[in-house]
Amino acid sequence: MTQPKLFGTNGIRGTVNTELTPTMAINAATAIGTFFGKKNLLVGYDARTSGPMFAKAVTAGLTATGCNVYNAGMAPTPALQFAVKNHKFDGGVIITASHNPPQYNGIKVIWKDGIEISHEQETKIENIYFQEKAKLAEWNQLGTTHELTNINTEYTEAIKTYVDIQAIQQKHFHVVVDAANSVGGLTAPPLMRDLGCKITSLNANIDGTFPGRMPEPRPENLNELAQTVKALKADLGVAFDGDADRSIFVDETGQIHMGDKTFAVVLKQYLLEHPNSQIVTPVSSSTLIQDTADTYKGTIVWTKVGSVTVSQKMKEIKANLGGEENGGIFYGPHQAVRDGAMTTALILEIMAKTGKSLSQLVAEQPQYFIEKGKIECPEDKKQKILDKLLEQLKGLNINTLDGAKIWFPDKSAILLRPSGTEPAFRLYAEARTQKKAAELIAEYTKKLHSILQTI
Ligand code: MG
Repeated sequence: MTQPKLFGTNGIRGTVNTELTPTMAINAATAIGTFFGKKNLLVGYDARTSGPMFAKAVTAGLTATGCNVYNAGMAPTPALQFAVKNHKFDGGVIITASHNPPQYNGIKVIWKDGIEISHEQETKIENIYFQEKAKLAEWNQLGTTHELTNINTEYTEAIKTYVDIQAIQQKHFHVVVDAANSVGGLTAPPLMRDLGCKITSLNANIDGTFPGRMPEPRPENLNELAQTVKALKADLGVAFDGDADRSIFVDETGQIHMGDKTFAVVLKQYLLEHPNSQIVTPVSSSTLIQDTADTYKGTIVWTKVGSVTVSQKMKEIKANLGGEENGGIFYGPHQAVRDGAMTTALILEIMAKTGKSLSQLVAEQPQYFIEKGKIECPEDKKQKILDKLLEQLKGLNINTLDGAKIWFPDKSAILLRPSGTEPAFRLYAEARTQKKAAELIAEYTKKLHSILQTI
């Protein structure tokens, strides 16, 4: 029988006290501590009500294996990642369920370079966990516990060194920040105040029940932000997810822009300043990213979907910029991880340097229209369907890193991807017209259905 999984796409995650209990957290931490082997580890948590409980459980598990724990308290994931690298810890653990609703929590393990551990390293921890091979220390060899204060300020101070502070300060931007009642509110407003911005805050008080909005920065959760930006005639709105590694922006007209568009804004400016660079992005990203790279002389390196994969690829090929359609931008000079506050500083810098509003910067981009689809498919048939489909599609411009991404000569594209979480295929089409995108979804839904009937 295959061993069950402890780690999902982004760490260990589950509903509090049902799928993820303090007992599991202690056991996971003894496995993590055994994996590291009596090292110095930094622990932090986001604003969820269960954060302190799990941080204590993880601290107990880690110190039981002889690891010394430095408690950083409440912090955005990228602030903890930066502190691990900056203070030369051997690794770290952040207690967060990122964008999930408040009843969830999770455990992410960070390597000494500040990047989440690879899936191979996760498997090693899973083996220790499920085979109960954690090595508990003798009573006189237990790890020690310490406090580490100030990591959030160190993080924002570092971000400031990567942007033109004076150029931004001169503009006196008015920014509306929606921190989702979580940790983004600890770092982004002070950072932007230092950059000379006037801040209006929404959902700024820390409250782990997330009373303001759900922590996923999707358009349906951001209406209040969009309306506030428009009503106050602010220059920009920014919303973070629960652990503030992703940021979604609203332009001065109140229009919400999803991650591909702001990534393309950052990408264009980056390539103007650093032509011939390599850019890392998952196959789920828009053709807009390829277009921007082609126009401004960059090379796209595609990866599977998942932020850890993007970070690991950036590290491997020494790329300095990565991005995802969900609002995760990875700025290598600071750190090769998704980073909401760093992204906000970059967007402000681009607005300051170009003298353009976000709506103007987005309007300069080629427009693509997106349609999505989903078809039910039993788990055991996913691979067979994919193989059959690929046979039928021979000769097309196709990438098979993660499902099948097909690019057509008219710049339309479709991604057909077996879902990682449910028995289904997901389809994402984009084209220069809405009609064409819808036609692609219809055509490929039909293709998948007919293959499904034959196997
Ligand atoms: Mg997140």
